[in-house]
Amino acid sequence: MAKAVDCPCGVTVRGETDDELVTNVEAHVQSDHPDMVGTMTRDKIMEMAHDA
Ligand SMILES: [Zn+2]
Repeated sequence: MAKAVDCPCGVTVRGETDDELVTNVEAHVQSDHPDMVGTMTRDKIMEMAHDA
């Protein structure tokens, strides 16, 4: 099932699988929120995830 995370900056990051969602969120954080790298753990991302 596809899932999505609503980033506080207003961007919705989606993934077709949990692994893809985590990868996409990590890529978004690295490009747009370098100061948050390391704080968005897989557990945190899955906690924020909802059905897309
Ligand atoms: Zn963001």
